[in-house]
Amino acid sequence: MPVQPRSRVVILGGGTAGWMTAAALSALAGAACKVTLVESADIGIVGVGEATLPHLRAFITRLGIDEHAFMAATEATFKLGIEFRDFGRIGDRYIHPFGSYGQPLNGIAFHHHWLRRRGADGTSPIGDYSPAVVAAEQSRFAFPSNRNVTNSFGYAYQFDATRFAPFLRTWSEERGVRRVEGLVANVDRDDPTGDVRALQLSDGQRIEGDLFIDCSGFRSVLLGTALDEPWEDWSHWLPCDRAVAAPCASPPGPIEPFTRAVAMPAGWRWRIPLRHRVGNGYVYSSAHCDDATAQAALLDALETPSLAEPRLLRFKAGRRRRSWVGNVIAVGLASGFLEPLESTSIYLVQMAITRLLEHFPGRTIEPVDRDGFNAAVDAEYDRIRDFLILHYHATTRDDSPFWDHVRTMRIPDSLEEKLELWRRSAQVQQYGYGLFLEPSWVAVYLGQGIIPERWDQRADLLGEEALDRALAELRAAIAREVAAMPDHRDQLMRAA
Ligand SMILES: Cc1cc2nc3c(=O)[nH]c(=O)nc-3n(C[C@H](O)[C@H](O)[C@H](O)COP(=O)(O)OP(=O)(O)OC[C@H]3O[C@@H](n4cnc5c(N)ncnc54)[C@H](O)[C@@H]3O)c2cc1C
Repeated sequence: MPVQPRSRVVILGGGTAGWMTAAALSALAGAACKVTLVESADIGIVGVGEATLPHLRAFITRLGIDEHAFMAATEATFKLGIEFRDFGRIGDRYIHPFGSYGQPLNGIAFHHHWLRRRGADGTSPIGDYSPAVVAAEQSRFAFPSNRNVTNSFGYAYQFDATRFAPFLRTWSEERGVRRVEGLVANVDRDDPTGDVRALQLSDGQRIEGDLFIDCSGFRSVLLGTALDEPWEDWSHWLPCDRAVAAPCASPPGPIEPFTRAVAMPAGWRWRIPLRHRVGNGYVYSSAHCDDATAQAALLDALETPSLAEPRLLRFKAGRRRRSWVGNVIAVGLASGFLEPLESTSIYLVQMAITRLLEHFPGRTIEPVDRDGFNAAVDAEYDRIRDFLILHYHATTRDDSPFWDHVRTMRIPDSLEEKLELWRRSAQVQQYGYGLFLEPSWVAVYLGQGIIPERWDQRADLLGEEALDRALAELRAAIAREVAAMPDHRDQLMRAA
């Protein structure tokens, strides 16, 4: 549907979700809508989303934001994946890379060939066939190039979350977004439609609009509180409901181009290297660990003394049943939350913005747009939820009540089906868009120690000698090209 001129769009919230939405609307729907953003300095932002996914690059590029300027402003580093330690069993370690393993041979996905030779003399871990894994392990980084075999990877950013929203704010205000400082005290709604007509601020200002984007964080001021959209609770599958976060100074040595997730007795701990410091946090289940114990465990694990008082954050896994109701669309934490194990929240913000632009309404909201948007959001949430649960459930750990619980809990049928398919045939359930695609599932299945009963029989059509030669050549090419990549820190200096 063509966008009608000058819809009045009101965004409530000036965190990452609010300013990403404002930036995208001002750049991509600028002529079609007039954007006002309301935020309250008294409430502040959650400010802990530091690790991202490669999709953010497309967002930055699409808006025409200069990557160097963005990275310098947010103290960003490059990210090639996430390293998981101690998840499948204590002592295990694997990297979930941004990119694929190897290349298909005879049209059959690489992991089938690798499974066929697994355990044979001279066969390497599957990570040796991933440029992102090999580069991450050597703390090297180069931009993917079509000229190389190593182009089969992507990269994301790790950045200071408190600097991203202010960066986008300046950028958006230069493009006409109006910012209003104030606290929403009341929401005026239309009778009988229930649509939101205006936000009443505590200082008496009244902000009218046609479309309201709720980016008010966990408070979910419009969708959750005013419209009372039901909450779908997923904490029985994802029991972590708290985090304690503390930054520390960067230790000497390389800046690792990856996020680390280390399993802990009641959850896991993140380590995110930035240019100016390292972000750390312990995500835990309050049913299995008290706050003081979690804080002590986090501080004990820091490589250098904490640079700030540890911050406690509370959350619940789940989402509002619908994200778009009436003329309110929730983006970011106001629509739901899945814990940060795979750095998916900012991706969900970006995905919602993309879908909103696709379904951007005129003066009248068409149910087909609203339903299309909600269906896309549902599918993404469900898949990410299953992927996260896999990290907990696919474990042999029984050394703490938390790990025993997640290992033995009932999982969603949708994940049970995916696991069954993998165990029986090494196949990954396919879908055309969104998170996560085949290489990601393969990384986590294998990384967590789920070895399938068989591989695709068609892989056997390739002779063993030819296969071993292809594997050795690929491994050597990746090793050679990664050895020529600059050190990550040097690459950052060039990008500064
Ligand atoms: C422990 C933890 C770790 C995380 N790690 C990651 C990660 O590594 N990667 C990732 O992608 N994501 C991560 N996230 C999620 C990420 O931080 C958020 O998705 C992202 O910051 C977006 O937040 P938001 O803008 O929706 O909400 P917020 O940052 O909370 O912003 C809410 C805004 O609404 C405003 N507001 C609220 N109520 C009112 C009111 N009544 N009147 C006026 N204004 C109001 C506030 O002032 C604020 O501006 C993490 C989250 C948590 C809790």
